Amino acid sequence: MSCIFCKIINGEIPSSKVYENEYVYAFRDINPQAPIHVLVIPKLHLASADEINAENSVYVAKIFEAISVIAKSEGLENGYRVITNVGEDGCQSVKHLHFHILGGKKLPENMG
Ligand code: 5GP
Ligand code: ZN
Repeated sequence: MSCIFCKIINGEIPSSKVYENEYVYAFRDINPQAPIHVLVIPKLHLASADEINAENSVYVAKIFEAISVIAKSEGLENGYRVITNVGEDGCQSVKHLHFHILGGKKLPENMG
């Protein structure tokens, strides 16, 4: 599997881990867009949010449970933003489902 996020999960590519459980891995984005920029990914290769279905949606529930825990551990009590980019028009660059947690400052109102 040539997927870079699968390689991060299995340790082939190093990452700055923030959180991990049976379903979820979270690490700091290599090119942060905000003071806190964490990526939360499922330990199951799904190309994007467009592949979420009734069989695999437990991973998404676990991701959002993890996001709430991570937001607290990162001190984001004043709020934050969760983003997932999908496909070409969404400017998705890594084809393994991931949720960006952005925070640590007042984020721009514009969502695109
Ligand atoms: P996308 O544009 O697909 O929504 O987001 C992909 C994100 O993955 C980008 O913010 C990019 O900086 C991050 N990224 C890409 N390769 C690596 C890597 O090897 N390590 C880490 N920590 N982040 C990466
Ligand atoms: Zn993958």
